[in-house]
This record gives sequence, structure tokens and C-alpha cells, in this order.
Amino acid sequence: SNSHYLESQKRRESNARTYPRKIPIAIREASGIRVKDADGKMYYDCLAGAGTLALGHNHPVVVQAIRDVLESGLPLHTLDLTTPVKEAFVDELFRLLPPSFASRARIQFCGPSGADGVEAAVKLVKTATGRRSMLSYQGGYHGMTHGALGLTGNLQPKRDIAGLMPDVHFLPYPYSYRCPFELGGEQGWRVGSKFIERTLNDPESGIASPAGMIVEAVQGEGGVIPAPDEWLREVRRITKESGIPLIMDEVQTGFGRTGAMFAFQHSGIVPDVLVLSKAIGGSLPLSVVVYSEELDVWGPGAHAGTFRGNQLAMAAGLATMAFIRENRIDEHATTIGGRLQERLCQIQEQSSCIGEVRGRGLMIGVEIVDKRGGADVLGSYPAMPEMARAIQQACLERGLIIELGGRHGSVVRFLPPLIVTEEQIEEIAAIFHDAVGAAER
Ligand code: PMP
Repeated sequence: SNSHYLESQKRRESNARTYPRKIPIAIREASGIRVKDADGKMYYDCLAGAGTLALGHNHPVVVQAIRDVLESGLPLHTLDLTTPVKEAFVDELFRLLPPSFASRARIQFCGPSGADGVEAAVKLVKTATGRRSMLSYQGGYHGMTHGALGLTGNLQPKRDIAGLMPDVHFLPYPYSYRCPFELGGEQGWRVGSKFIERTLNDPESGIASPAGMIVEAVQGEGGVIPAPDEWLREVRRITKESGIPLIMDEVQTGFGRTGAMFAFQHSGIVPDVLVLSKAIGGSLPLSVVVYSEELDVWGPGAHAGTFRGNQLAMAAGLATMAFIRENRIDEHATTIGGRLQERLCQIQEQSSCIGEVRGRGLMIGVEIVDKRGGADVLGSYPAMPEMARAIQQACLERGLIIELGGRHGSVVRFLPPLIVTEEQIEEIAAIFHDAVGAAER
């Protein structure tokens, strides 16, 4: 039963356990967008490994690809020696990238997690520029290792750890619901991009010569905040003019999640460095960085790692990428994500705690607010994390797994597998509606 596993887990796993606290179940079976817990209860999984499971749990093409490697006699581990699986994987990935980027790109395989890719990207731009400071964004999330955590915007996870990467400057992200300049919509992000430009052009600003800038096109953990395309184009222009390599962290947004193969494509820009993980391994651990050939500055062995050659992850990732391309899953994410946003907006009209519904493709956030708190000049209400937690709990009781995010933990995040159907979206929305009603009572 759930309680058997949870008690055992509690006894032996560290106090840093996170998900089991809010989602206290043991998972025994999973298929597509559904999981079954140890008590036999079924759930819709709209967390999906924090966006990892693009094709859901145990998709037949992924399972078959893994099986094929296991039965073929191919090695499972190769350091960074090449194999037919690896070659096919790189072919497929380069096929998905915009030609203007792919034609001049290099790939470096990193350790298994997104943070490994982020660490590599930072080392790379430091090596290439000979500079040391980094630019990142308020609310950004890049991982939990020392360097990646140093780039993460939230103070809470860093509070007890002295000596993280010291030279990181955090710029304001275009978060229109809580604009730091107290300006609504376009005005807010225009001032934001001007601020960045002025700062970088002012040699006395204190942050004039960074080694690189890292940014998410849609902040995920930070509360599902899509950056306006025009803002991202401005950021690209400014970084290019200032000679600052632009790192796009697409660990969460890559591979169709936002309705484009990569989220930077919505704005038509091309980054200098692209960090990819999560969906790229088709459920298994893998991360890579892809960067323009001008940044191919590392000497032999300047970046390494034992687990750069996970053949099963490459095979599962290859199958995932091919399936997404062949079945236009990115377009499906746009359509179905639009439908979910519509339904959530209807729920917003009938509820008293939803401040904003936003997102892109199947990366959708619902800002839970306290309307009794009174609106600020932007018409935005204070965050209400206790209500968000109550909604999460009520969803779980009704068979829906969702996660929270945002600087105050008050944004409900929908990250379902990209293969979710219209019918399932209706059921998920109905459960959410009922859960919000229950939490409000
Ligand atoms: N970057 C982004 C944008 C992420 O969302 C995450 C994970 N949520 C990471 C980096 C870190 O990835 P990992 O947890 O695999 O280290």
C-alpha cells in the first residue's frame, strides 16, 4: 500500500525529499498520461517528471527503442566514444534545430542532469570570453549544483549555502503580472529591456563585461512566465552588440513543450549556446549543450564526465525526437494547450482566487492570488501559496497530479505529456475546476 512505501521511504531517505511531501503516493504502474499508485488509485500526471515525459510514461516507441538496444548487443556505456545509436541521435537532434544554427553548431555531451548541461555552458562561455561574471534573471531556475544554483534567481534554496558562484547579476525578467517597474504589459518589458541595455553599456554599472547571459524563454520553476518574443529579440540584439554569449536554457521548454520545437524559435532568434536535457533522453538521464562553432574553444578533455555515453538514453531520446517530428507534436501542443488555457480561463471567471492564466503550448501556469488583499497599481493581487497548496491537495484527492512553482510557490503548473488528448484535457480541466471550488470553500 502507499503507506507501507511512504513509511519506509521516510525512514531511510533524507529530509530533503520534496515531491513525496506534497504528492504522498508510491507509483506502481504508469502508462501514457496516467499513473496508478500502490493502493490502485489512478491519476492524470500533469507533472510528468517536471516536463521530462514528452510522450508520457512508457510510450511504445520509447520502450521499443530501449528494447532494441538491449537485444542488439550494442554497448550500454561508452564514455564519449561513438556508436551507431549516438550518430543517429545527433543526426536527429541537428535535424530538429533551425538550419541557421545547426549548420554551424557543435555538440558536447554532458552528465545526466540538466544542471550538468548548465555547468558546461557556463564553463564554456567563461573559457571563450576570458571573463568571469554571469548574467541571469530573477525567478530563473537552472539546477541545484553549485554553479547552477548560483545562477538560480530564488534566494530560498541558496540561503544556507555560502560560496556559490560569486559573480552573478540578476536582471528583471518580463513578468508582467508582477512587473518590477509597476508598468503593465508592453510598457513593462520595454522598460526592462532598456534597463538591460543601459546597464550593459554603462562601464560604471558594475556589470558591464559578463562572460555570458543565461535565460529561459519561458520560466518554468519560476512560475510559468513566457517572455514576450519582442523582448527576447531585444535581449538577443543587446547581447550580440555587447559581445555577450547568450545561453538559452531549454531544459524544460525544449522539444515541442511550448508549441515550437524549441522555445527560442517563437521569436526567431538563435542563441549562442543551447542547454538541453529532460525530454531529450526520452525518460532517461541525458543532457547536452549545443553551441556555435566560434565557441568551440575547449581543448581536448577540457570538459569531460563518465556518463556522457548513456546509449539507452540516446536511443530513447532519438525515438522521442523522431516521434515528435513525424507526428507534429509541437503543433498538437499548440492546439491542445490553447484548449486547456481556454478552459482554465473559464474556470478563472467562476473562481475568486485565480489572478492570471498564462503559458505557451503545454506549459501553463495559473497564478493563485488573494483577492481580499486588494489589487496593486497593475490590478494584480498578492500571492496566496496556502490556497495553491490546498488546490494541489484537492486535485490529488480527485486523481490529478500537478505541481506548484513561482517565487512564492503560488503558481499551479500544468506540464502534461505532449500526447495528451482533447478528451483528457476536458477531464483534467473538470477535476481542476472541482478542486478549486473545494479549496475555496
Ligand atoms: N534548467 C531548467 C530550466 C530546469 O527547469 C531544470 C529542472 N527543473 C534544470 C535546469 C535542472 O535540471 P536537473 O534537475 O535535471 O538538474
